[in-house]
Amino acid sequence: MKTVKLFDKDSFLSEFEAVVLSSEKSDEFYKIILDKTCFFPEAGGQVSDIGRLGDGGVFDVQIENDEIVHYCKSGFTAGEKVLGKIDFKRRFSLMQNHSGEHIVSGIIHKKFGFDNVGFHLNEELVTFDFNGLFSKEQLAEIEYLANKAIWENRDITAFYPAKEQLKTVNYRSKKEIDGDLRLVKIDGVDICACCAPHVKSTGQVGLIKFLATEKMRGGTRIYMKCGEYALKEFVAEHRNAADISNALSVKKEEIFQGVCSLKEALDKEKQNTALLKKRLISLLAEQIREDVRFVEDLSMPQLQKLCDLLYKKDGKTHTVFSENENGGYSLVISGIPDEVDLIFEKAKKSLKIKGGGRNGMISCLVTASKEDILKEFSN
Ligand SMILES: [Zn+2]
Repeated sequence: MKTVKLFDKDSFLSEFEAVVLSSEKSDEFYKIILDKTCFFPEAGGQVSDIGRLGDGGVFDVQIENDEIVHYCKSGFTAGEKVLGKIDFKRRFSLMQNHSGEHIVSGIIHKKFGFDNVGFHLNEELVTFDFNGLFSKEQLAEIEYLANKAIWENRDITAFYPAKEQLKTVNYRSKKEIDGDLRLVKIDGVDICACCAPHVKSTGQVGLIKFLATEKMRGGTRIYMKCGEYALKEFVAEHRNAADISNALSVKKEEIFQGVCSLKEALDKEKQNTALLKKRLISLLAEQIREDVRFVEDLSMPQLQKLCDLLYKKDGKTHTVFSENENGGYSLVISGIPDEVDLIFEKAKKSLKIKGGGRNGMISCLVTASKEDILKEFSN
């Protein structure tokens, strides 16, 4: 690789001057190789830095043929000096997430012996997989220990150990590494092979919050936020809990109980409503004499039940509408099969109708005004 990785030595360096080694136009953008760079390329599940080179935006950085390639909106001349600047706010979030990932993976490895077998990391979210399962209590303990490591503000350092030194160091690594091995050490917590920039101490991670976990191929996937994004998550959830507490008029600590009580009351009301609807359908079936009738607030199955009862009562064909929540009408035509088919075929010609059925019952949705329906059915 021709490019010196400035992020290797100083992860907080955000501006630099470099010499353009090559600038190649490719579609709508340019592929730039520099003699040195602060831009960390996409690697090992972490997205790349973005920023500016001269007046042009750098929107992606990749390793191609063992070279760091900056994807830039502007082109340059080989030999030209150029000023580079990374989006450091974004980089800092990426470093918080990456160091947070090492803290959690190190704790899990030490305490349970499980390995981190894959991860994806952007500025907002870390998703990582472990080859083992955890109870709820164990996950809570891991999250607590990870935050405790933050409060202890332990040093984070990156170094290239000599071959001899390497024999005595116990470190985590996802794969065999060719060439120089870079280790990232979190004092007393973890040592892991890694090429990415990190914050300087665990305190800079700020906060670690697990959002969710799920079982994946016999292992566990953890979704986690760190730093500012973890704080944003906490603020949003806190506001949500306060709103629910106000809406239910219960203390914030008791909102779960409040929601359970509300759900219980709602279930009872649903049962009551179903009973009342059943009685209403029986009453309607006794009263209705007309062939065409509008009724209120009946679902399609309830309309079908009503039509069943009507046919049993008088053996005639009935057409019953009920307005639905979309502003149209649910319609059931039921009775003598030939008559039912005739009414349906005729109505289809002048009204927008979707649906069907057989053996003397057709259920459908009608998109039309009550006036238009009455006009059609009064002929
Ligand atoms: Zn790493």
